Amino acid sequence: MNMDNEMKLKGKENKPVIMVIVDTLMDGPLKEAMQTGMAPALKFLTEKGKYFPNLVAPFPTMSVNVDTTLLTGTYCHEHHIPGLVWYNKKENRLVNYGTHYRELWKLGFIQAIEDMLYNMNETHISRNVTTIHEDLDSMGKSSASINALVYRGSSPHSLELPNLLAFLTELPQNRVVKASRIFTYGRFSKIDPSRRYQHFWQKLGVNDSSSVQQLAQLIHHNNLPSFSIVYFPELDQRIHKNGRMDLAGIQKADQQMQKLFNLYGDWNKALAQNIWITLGDNGQAWVHPERKKAVIDLREILSSYKIMKLRKGIAEGDQIILAVNDRMAYIYSLDLNSTPLEELAPVLQQDKRIDVISWKKEKCIIVRSGEKDGELTFHPKGMYQDQYGQSWDLRGNIDILDLTLKHRNVDYGVYPDALARLYSCLYSHEGDFLIVSAKPGYELVGEGSPVHLGGGGHGGLHEQDTLVPLIVAGTPTYPDRLRMVDLKKWLLSLIN
Ligand SMILES: [Zn+2]
Repeated sequence: MNMDNEMKLKGKENKPVIMVIVDTLMDGPLKEAMQTGMAPALKFLTEKGKYFPNLVAPFPTMSVNVDTTLLTGTYCHEHHIPGLVWYNKKENRLVNYGTHYRELWKLGFIQAIEDMLYNMNETHISRNVTTIHEDLDSMGKSSASINALVYRGSSPHSLELPNLLAFLTELPQNRVVKASRIFTYGRFSKIDPSRRYQHFWQKLGVNDSSSVQQLAQLIHHNNLPSFSIVYFPELDQRIHKNGRMDLAGIQKADQQMQKLFNLYGDWNKALAQNIWITLGDNGQAWVHPERKKAVIDLREILSSYKIMKLRKGIAEGDQIILAVNDRMAYIYSLDLNSTPLEELAPVLQQDKRIDVISWKKEKCIIVRSGEKDGELTFHPKGMYQDQYGQSWDLRGNIDILDLTLKHRNVDYGVYPDALARLYSCLYSHEGDFLIVSAKPGYELVGEGSPVHLGGGGHGGLHEQDTLVPLIVAGTPTYPDRLRMVDLKKWLLSLIN
């Protein structure tokens, strides 16, 4: 082999992959921002690489589920993180990884901190699946996780609680967690020892500037591992508040990317030395500005049933538990004899703003809708093939999930990968429950749920919640299937 080829091969082998997840990056606003000069760094990546407008996120479209799918290459029926809020039957309590302080306060602040910081990664994510960090570690390669909510890996790290938080919660100040070899999680664990961007009012370091500063340390010291996942959390908050077309939010995220590229001097060097993968984690649907129109209050719809109060936990006579994930919700029946799921479905169907109502019945899945008549019944392994190589048995009104049948093929409309995503959600955890998802324009509400009037919301099955852009630059290979669940296999092939 001549020197040139050897260099090329070596270069290819050693090119570290940097994956930047911009929470709630969406195709429409990103294109607009790039066209109007507000996102030069992302435009650079798009021009030098390849832009895919429609990557499919898993359902529910909540970050914890999305990130676990991304890291494990499985949907939630395998990885077992069903959303931000869910009822844990084994522990007989509602788990909440952090929706809103009102809700957390009612559930117990200490429990929420514990669930978010430790339990999700340490106990809730199934041990039957492996994360990309664990896979790379067993391949003898190292990886970094910077401010990602899901971080499980093989290397022990100490998560350190700030004094005040330890004092308030009476949780141990240090706890060992298993994470990627290089690991940053706000102020709790970090690469760069400085306190910049790490204060209480800066979300304890879980912010874009801190993510960039930590990654910059690795780039600067030539310490990048084979794979780094870097999380930019801020755009999500802005879009919740300002709506889908918040271009200023994209501009801010882009400025952070520019800071990273500037470390190389010439931006082309950033591409020559690294593979850059940039993506959103979920989209957001628009939300009506008027409370009366926007809010679907599940407590009102189900007012003839006794619903568990958050503060009390399950009390005698309770029939229903609500676990609201913004635009989707799990509705649990505590006793199928007195509160059968079939009886709840028509009650929920009375609200036309709920477009998907679904539950398991024996080996099948039933889907109904507030706006369409009839019923769709499906299960895996049937005569209809979809574009992802999955086959389905389908009976009843296929319009409910906007499906189109052509010969032996089934195509998806406004609910991408609808069948597998619904299936995974219904098999994600124990319990007798229905799931509901709202049409764009609306948010579901239980006790203490946040609402985003005139802004955006997510969690739903609809494409507005689901589709995100993906930009791949610095490599000539691309994923063959544009679903989040399929990315891990491709990432591993890039690294190895
Ligand atoms: Zn959000």
